[in-house]
Amino acid sequence: MTAVQTDSTETTAPETKADMGAYQNAWYRQAEGRPLGPPIPGLSPEQEIAVLARILFREGYDDMLAGHISYKQPDGTFLVTPYGLTWDEVTASDIMRVDFETETVLDGKWTVTPAIALHARAHAVRDDVVWAVHNHPKWATVWAAVHRLPGVFEQTSALIGPDVVLYDEYLGGAATQLDSEAAIAALGDAAAAILANHGVFVVARGLPQVYMRCVSLETRARVAWAALAVGEPVPLSDQVVSFAGLTMDRAGWPGAFEAMVRRELRHNPSFLD
Ligand SMILES: [Zn+2]
Repeated sequence: MTAVQTDSTETTAPETKADMGAYQNAWYRQAEGRPLGPPIPGLSPEQEIAVLARILFREGYDDMLAGHISYKQPDGTFLVTPYGLTWDEVTASDIMRVDFETETVLDGKWTVTPAIALHARAHAVRDDVVWAVHNHPKWATVWAAVHRLPGVFEQTSALIGPDVVLYDEYLGGAATQLDSEAAIAALGDAAAAILANHGVFVVARGLPQVYMRCVSLETRARVAWAALAVGEPVPLSDQVVSFAGLTMDRAGWPGAFEAMVRRELRHNPSFLD
């Protein structure tokens, strides 16, 4: 048994599951009043979408000019990443504003890909979709190639929850209107879809949630591949995966997104421009 010693209290590591809650609470009580980390600057909506692009690029969402991020605004317009820039170079002033209903660019200095129809459809049919991400990330695209969903074999893979679906049709090229309707119908109420022979589509209400879902899905794809290559991985129970997803949806992972923003600020703060 390991004793955890602090200045003011002594806590004994839990021996049973029932003890775990009290153990964790003790840790949090000791941290009461302390910040999780250095604060980050307030970000404009354009800076939010630019930093998300940079963060996800680092996580494997990096297929040349492929991929788009859309972010619904209170006035009903949408901010989207420009077509011709990679996600590690995009800055706040590169972000485009579009009207999905009329399919027109309202503001911005670059172009918007026609493949953004997938996003327009998702935002049109689901009120809870404030953020939508499409790309061909390194590991999830392997599963798209074999028309299979990766299993959940460790905890980060569970953070997106159980609602990931496979859309098993690929009509080729950029998403057409018909393709988009079918893909979003297949998505249903899910958090994400793996698009067969293509990539992924991830949706969320908020910025920390869309970040976590994108990272969790790519981690799931990577770990499942490696674990299956090693041998016979043991899946998490449906109950554990559902609980993990619900916890992330309700409370997120406190401090995680802010830590990623700080990493981008250290690396290259030009996304703010
Ligand atoms: Zn694509």
